[in-house]
Amino acid sequence: MSFSVAIVGRPNVGKSTLFNRLVGRRLAIVAESPGVTRDRREGVGRLGPLRFRVTDTAGLEEATPDSLGGRMMEQTRRALKDADVALLVVDGRAGITAADEHFADQLRRAETPVLLVVNKCEGAAASGGIAESYSLGMGDPVTISAEHNDGMSDLYDALATFEAALSEAAWKDEDDSTATRPAATRPAAREAEKKLRLAIVGRPNVGKSTLVNRLVGDERVITGPEAGITRDSVAVEWSFGGRAIQLVDTAGLRRRAKVHEKLEKLSSEDTHASLGRAEVVVLLFDATEPPAKQDLGIANRLAEEGRAPVIVLNKWDLVEEPQGVMQGMMARLEDSLPQLRGVPLVTCSALTGRGSDKLMPAVLDVYSKWNTRVPTSALNRWLRDATDSHPPPLAAGRRVKIRYVTQVKARPPTFAAFVSRPEALADSYRRYLVNDLRSRFNLDGVPIRFYLRKGKNPYAKK
Ligand code: GDP
Ligand code: GDP
Repeated sequence: MSFSVAIVGRPNVGKSTLFNRLVGRRLAIVAESPGVTRDRREGVGRLGPLRFRVTDTAGLEEATPDSLGGRMMEQTRRALKDADVALLVVDGRAGITAADEHFADQLRRAETPVLLVVNKCEGAAASGGIAESYSLGMGDPVTISAEHNDGMSDLYDALATFEAALSEAAWKDEDDSTATRPAATRPAAREAEKKLRLAIVGRPNVGKSTLVNRLVGDERVITGPEAGITRDSVAVEWSFGGRAIQLVDTAGLRRRAKVHEKLEKLSSEDTHASLGRAEVVVLLFDATEPPAKQDLGIANRLAEEGRAPVIVLNKWDLVEEPQGVMQGMMARLEDSLPQLRGVPLVTCSALTGRGSDKLMPAVLDVYSKWNTRVPTSALNRWLRDATDSHPPPLAAGRRVKIRYVTQVKARPPTFAAFVSRPEALADSYRRYLVNDLRSRFNLDGVPIRFYLRKGKNPYAKK
């Protein structure tokens, strides 16, 4: 067990739901092990390849905010003492409450590092809460929906980074007495070691397995059950252009591993799981057929999950009228998936190999866009230009003011704009801003989150 995680926060924010999500079915066994106290549950959490001890401080549902100073705080203190990292959970729908601030205060005084987690972020109802959460001064929040299993890949990223820092610290401790190595070489090495997690998804028969074979090449495939991911999946790793790539859990992979499953069964649930773990998702379409509802459904999901997408039109060798097919496909995507405007389209034949060499460069390109961080000064220059050339609408005779914009996180690029009256800003204007932002900062083709928050620049008062 590499490290331990404590889940803390006021009642009802979803701590137990998150705990169950991380610990899964193993809970039943864990809860019976001796030494587990009643008001705190412990288990083995799993997230991708990470394994950690996780403690839930819930179970004090009756505690009212007034009694937070008492038992609950004591409980939290004890959990923190044993933890390497704390997840401070807040409720994105309810926004930040006095009780949340109380917890944040206590955590700031503790030595345990804290990751701020905004839960209940499915749908749009949490956008205000996400922006508000910055006021806790805990840095970029990880936004999730424990109930809907969304955002687990972001949580994984955050915890993995943390774990890497932790093991680096341990390594440094061991190493301090001996020779020093050039510090500069370490981050670079780490970056190259960090695997880009790629999923290849699509409905049955579009050519996923064929493409995997084509990309990876048989002799380099490492198959077989891998402890890393889930029990019944397989990891394939290779590298492209010096960057380590890990293919996560796709139906195609499973078939390679001769795990017999009905293809039909693999579609929705399976795709969802793959999306959760991947950074870049390659969505395969069969170019000989118009995109099916199922294809667009997966694409939509992908945008909602905020993954970096690449769409492949496969079986291009069978297409007789490439130009027409391409135009039809682009029109269809433009109509059905405005949130993926500019998504890279790669045409290829997984069978013959023609065009498949364009895929990985497209993957790396979209990955880098997905990781973009735009400096706040550049963003606000853009905001000025964008609002000058196309001013926000009037509402009840007064112009809505957009005062400040900042990027709150990357992967996917997420922005918060501080607006005098967010509710008065028409959706069409918001879309204008997002599209303009895309072209200014070369963010075509990746999902963008753009939250409107009432108020002034929150950082100005400091
Ligand atoms: P705890 O007291 O912090 O442990 O909170 P619980 O895990 O018991 O959850 C409190 C309530 O929030 C329950 O009704 C959950 O079903 C609900 N909940 C948990 N996670 C989510 C989520 O991601 N989205 C929504 N909408 N509700 C959630
Ligand atoms: P999966 O179910 O998505 O994994 O699809 P498979 O990789 O098993 O492919 C389904 C069928 O389509 C197989 O008969 C493949 O040979 C065929 N196929 C896959 N890619 C191509 C392609 O680019 N061109 C043509 N003509 N056939 C392909």
